[in-house]
Amino acid sequence: MNIGFIGLGNMGSPMAANLAAAGHAVTGFDLVAPCPAGVAKAATAAEAAAGRDVVITMLPNGAILRAVADEILPVMTKGAVFLDCSTVDVESARSVAARAADAGVLAMDAPVSGGVGGATAGTLTFMAGGADNAFAIAKPLFDIMGQKAVHCGPSGNGQAAKICNNMILGVTMIATCEAFALADKLGLDRAKMFDVVSTSSGYSWSMNAYCPAPGVGPQSPADNDYKPGFAAELMLKDLRLSQQAAEAVDADTPMGERAAALYAAFVDEENGKGMDFSAMLPRFEKRGRHG
Ligand code: NAD
Repeated sequence: MNIGFIGLGNMGSPMAANLAAAGHAVTGFDLVAPCPAGVAKAATAAEAAAGRDVVITMLPNGAILRAVADEILPVMTKGAVFLDCSTVDVESARSVAARAADAGVLAMDAPVSGGVGGATAGTLTFMAGGADNAFAIAKPLFDIMGQKAVHCGPSGNGQAAKICNNMILGVTMIATCEAFALADKLGLDRAKMFDVVSTSSGYSWSMNAYCPAPGVGPQSPADNDYKPGFAAELMLKDLRLSQQAAEAVDADTPMGERAAALYAAFVDEENGKGMDFSAMLPRFEKRGRHG
C-alpha cells in the first residue's frame, strides 16, 4: 500500500519503520523528528497525505489531531483511510470522523497499548473504532504493527476502550502499590505478598506482569530504578481523558477520579515526571497515614 505517516515520535517512528520493512511505500512527516530508515520524507503533512491509500497519524493530543485533519482531509483521496492511532479524547475522534465522512474519507480511531517496546517489536494491541470497510483495509497494517486488533464499534469506540482499560490500569496499580506499602508496615515480606496475591483474588496485570516491587515477580521497570516503561505523565494523560469522557456522558467514576488526582499530585508536585507509573510504590512507602 501507499501509506502516509504523520507523527514520527517515540511510537510513530518504529511503527512507520515496521510498515516500510514489510514492503509498503511509506512517506512520513513530523514537525521535528527525523524519518526512520526506509521512510521517505515529505515537506508537509499535506504532502505526506495526498494520494495515499492510508494515512496514519500518531500525534500527542486531540487539538493537534484536529489541526492536522483540517490540513490533510481536503487533499486525501476519496475512499482512502484516515487511521488515527494517537490517544485522544473521544469527542475529537468523533469530530474528526464526521469531517472525514464529509470529505469522502474513511476514518478509523485505533489507539494502541503496548508502549514503545510493542511499537518496536510489532506487538501492539489496536482498539479500533469506525466502519467495517475501514477496518478491513487497515487490518493487514494492524497485523504488521501489532499482534491483535479489536474492532470495538463505530468511530470513537477505540478511544473509549483505551481510556476505560487505562482507567482500570491506573486504579489497580495504585491499589497494588498501597497494598505493598501497607504490607511492609505490617511486617509482611514482599516476596510472600507476591506469592499469595498473584495466585489469589487480588491478582491483576499490575501485580502479576508488572509488579511495582523491585526484585519481586517478573522483570519490570521497578527493577530498573523505575525508568519507564509507561511514564507516570502518560498515565495521567489517559486518566484525565477518562475523566473528561466521564464528565461528558455523566458517568460516576470515583476511583478513576481519585487515581487521576493522585497521579496529578505525583507528576506535578512530587517529582514523578519521567518515572514509571509503578513508582507510586516508593511514593506510598515514604508516606504515613495522612501524608
Ligand atoms: P511523541 O511526543 O514521542 O511523538 C509525537 C510526535 O508528533 C512528535 O515527534 C511531534 O514532533 C509530532 N508532532 C506534533 N505535532 C505535529 C504536527 N502538527 N505535525 C506533525 N507531527 C507533529 O509521543 P509518543 O510517545 O510517540 O505518543 C504518540 C501518541 O501515542 C500519543 O497520543 C500517546 O498518548 C500515545 N501512546 C503512547 C504510548 C507510549 O508509551 N509512548 C503508549 C500508548 C499510546
